[in-house]
Amino acid sequence: MVTKAAVRIRASGVVMQGVCELRLPGICRTEDGRPGPITAVWDEQRDQIDVCKPCLDAQLRSGEWVRGEPLREPAGATSGR
Ligand SMILES: [Zn+2]
Repeated sequence: MVTKAAVRIRASGVVMQGVCELRLPGICRTEDGRPGPITAVWDEQRDQIDVCKPCLDAQLRSGEWVRGEPLREPAGATSGR
């Protein structure tokens, strides 16, 4: 019995041009490897994942991903890095 825990992701809400990392067959907008509109999400390890909207929706629908709380931008609290 395989119980896969859903990955809690946080969407940046920022749309940019790029290639989706999931490239779900028949779903992905950048399946052919050509850049398209994608958005960045972060997983629990704070790794960035670039996904297109259809793949993101598919992941959420299948329960692979669940929406975490929105990313809190520390307003004006930019650490010097
Ligand atoms: Zn995709």
